[in-house]
This record gives sequence, structure tokens and C-alpha cells, in this order.
Amino acid sequence: MNKLLRFRFVLTIFIFTIESFLPTDNSTFWEEESEEYITGQDQEVLTFRLNELQHNGNINESVCEPFEIYDELESECHPPESCKTLDECSVLGDELAEQILERFGDLLTDYEFDGEGDTYIEQELVRYRLDGEFLTNPQFVVVDNQISAYRDDLEMHVQIWEMFRYLIPEKERKMLSGFTIFTDGNEEMLAQVEPDDDDVNSWLLGVDIMDADESLILKSTLLHEYAHLLTLQKNQMDMNEDVLFADEDDPIHMTAAAACDYYFVDGMGCTKENSYLHQFYLQFWQDLIEEWHERGVADDEEEMEEFFVDYEDQFVTDYAVTSPDEDIAEVWTYFILSPRPDGEEIWEQKILFFHQYPEQVKLRAEILSRLLSYLSQNEG
Ligand SMILES: [Zn+2]
Repeated sequence: MNKLLRFRFVLTIFIFTIESFLPTDNSTFWEEESEEYITGQDQEVLTFRLNELQHNGNINESVCEPFEIYDELESECHPPESCKTLDECSVLGDELAEQILERFGDLLTDYEFDGEGDTYIEQELVRYRLDGEFLTNPQFVVVDNQISAYRDDLEMHVQIWEMFRYLIPEKERKMLSGFTIFTDGNEEMLAQVEPDDDDVNSWLLGVDIMDADESLILKSTLLHEYAHLLTLQKNQMDMNEDVLFADEDDPIHMTAAAACDYYFVDGMGCTKENSYLHQFYLQFWQDLIEEWHERGVADDEEEMEEFFVDYEDQFVTDYAVTSPDEDIAEVWTYFILSPRPDGEEIWEQKILFFHQYPEQVKLRAEILSRLLSYLSQNEG
């Protein structure tokens, strides 16, 4: 399908779910990745259904809640902007985070490494492009009967996309150029972001449709993925195409990392001096990184767990020890969803890191009012 698929570095979130509705006999499922797209009439029928779905069920002013405003540009109802100053937004954010916790429970679920999930090859099912707020130009992959139902479940694809586009204001997700539906079977990968191979300064968001029924985890996961987009977009990091497309063992990774004065994102590029990621790294990882490398934490699940136990006061989740990139994504998700902490622990300091950026405090209040409104409409 594309050369990126071979040695691409994806930023992911892994989950553990108990249910398993696939047979355990791997031989009946896909063993090789399909890279062929559906064409002709089948393609036309699916595309027609996609357009029907999105435009028939089109949101208009009449479906907005009384407290919401209708945004014509975004074709959606969302809460009005309700805070201006840093203090206002900080207080509002805390109030909203507490309300959501009370009414809908804790969206911050712990991800566990259990190694019990399916281990199928990651298979892309559909790749959409974005046209404003809508999914467009779908490319459907030819797959076995066992998973074609997931590929054709356009209602679900649209539902997931609409959840994401509702939570994140349009002006804050300009870096996104596409949306993909994939699966690697139950559990393992739940969602990912990856540079768009058509333009590496843009990004694709992907969701594993087999795991997407875990709705609370999906919301915090979409926030986690958005944190990657926020911290790796063009104004934060210079994407290095040579590194991105190189084999895993190519010495170019070492060379590029050595030439980078700031935090280097493995497989991608060099962060900018004032980027969130580099500042986060300076404050929280500099003293840890040598030991983290020596113990090979990134490549060994057991070592990950041990590292987390050794430094439990420093990480919001066990998954956060994977790398500084994953740590900052986990921390940002906690920053959004939890009331501002007042403790002295390092994991709390990490959350407070984002509270020092006015634009982030404002964004937090905006996302939380959208989230509360979404939950009230869909799960109230
Ligand atoms: Zn991630």
C-alpha cells in the first residue's frame, strides 16, 4: 500500500479488554496484510452509503441543546466559549472535570500489558480523507470475509469520527489529513497516529474498530492520540523524512539523533527548543534517560513494569514509561480529564506542566465542555 507500512513508527495506545469474540485458532484469520483496494461498483456502492450517512443525518440547528450554539462552519452544536482569562478557564476546567467524573465515571482507565490479546497483523480496512468536517474519498481494502463486515460498518466509522471531531475544535486539528479504520484483532492496538505518506507534515488518525466498543476508553484514547498530534505537529518538531522512511537498523537514526540539539523523537525527527516535548523532557526525563536506555525499557514489557514500579511516583500510568513521547501523551490526557492537582509528587508536577501554558488551559476548558455536552447527549 505504501512504503511507510514496512518500517513505520506509529504512536499507539494498547489496551486490555476481557471479552474476546474471535476464535483462538489463528489459522482461520488473516496471515498477510492485504494492500489491494476495492474498485468498480462495490466501491461506488460503499461511497454512496457513506455520503448518505453523513448528509442525511446531518446536524442542523434544530438538534442543538438549549445551551449550545450551532456552528455552521463545523456543522455541529457545541458549547459556547465560556472562559477568557487563564484563571477563568482554569476554574471552569476543574468544575467540568469534576462534573464529568461524578456523572459519567472515570474516563482515565489504566491500560495493562497482559499479552493475551490477538496477535494478528495490523490490517488497514478503510482510509478516509477529510473534507472539512466530513469523511471523503474512502479507499476500501480487499479483505477476507471474516473481517469485511468491520470494513463495511460505515455507521460505526462515522460515529467514531464524529466523536473525535466533536471533542477537538476544528481549528485545533488542522494537522490531520486523514482517518483510518484498521484492526489487529481484539486488544493490542486500540488507536494510532502516523505521518501521512502523501505529506509527512500531516497526520492520519487510526482506530481499531474491533476495540472501539469500549466507549469510555475510546474517549480517553482519542485524547491520548490527539496529544501526539499536538506535541509532534510541524510547529513542535521537524519531521525528518530520511529517518521516517529508513529501515529500523539504518545508522541514519543514530546520525540524526546525534545532530539534534533537543529531544529527538525516535523514527521521526528533532523537536524544537520551545516545544512542549523538549521542555517536558528537560524537566522530567533528563536524569532518567540513561537508566531507561540501559535497562532497555522500550523493548521489554517486563522491564517496563519494573521500571514503573521503581518510579511509580513519576508516572501517571504504566504505559507512560514506554518513552517520553508516550509519557507526555498520557500526562496531557490526565491534564485534560483531572482536576488540577496540588500535590508534590512528580506525576502531579507533570500534570501541572501543562497548566503553565495559557493556550492549553483554555483548550482544556473547551474540550471538557464539548466532552460534557457529548456525554450528556449520547450517554446521559
Ligand atoms: Zn501513544
